[in-house]
Amino acid sequence: MSIKEIAWLAGLLEGEGCFGTIKHTEYIKKYPIVRLAMTDRDIVEKAANLLKVNLLGPYKRQSQNGEIWKSCWAMNICGNRAAGIMMTVLPLMGERRSLKIREILSLWADDRRRCVKCGLLVGPKKYRCNECRIIYRREYNKALHSPMVKSGRKRKRL
Ligand SMILES: [Zn+2]
Repeated sequence: MSIKEIAWLAGLLEGEGCFGTIKHTEYIKKYPIVRLAMTDRDIVEKAANLLKVNLLGPYKRQSQNGEIWKSCWAMNICGNRAAGIMMTVLPLMGERRSLKIREILSLWADDRRRCVKCGLLVGPKKYRCNECRIIYRREYNKALHSPMVKSGRKRKRL
């Protein structure tokens, strides 16, 4: 993207964009998401092309009393690419958006996880807390030395 394109995108997202996060079950980490939804197809399409994502829509909309509104077009990006966009436009954003983006990026940078068994907070790259890991290893060893596995091995050898 050129500087001009970045400035255009920043202005568009400042006014019409939505910056948020999606939760991941076993992580503390929350994934960033950037959404844009507008009734002007050409503008959403231009943004989608710049960011190399699909243009979504048209979505039909109507008010509560059944009045048909103009269809809307959308694009969204999540994960590391969304974080990249946020970092790119951050210096160009207003105060409120900047605060929100900083908050999202710090949640994204948090690489702690929760134990898959009990939900306790564990360090990065760990699936289980110490206690659950001991139980898991014990059960794993038990299964490894169970008669079923042994006979299976013998059959293989024969
Ligand atoms: Zn645990």
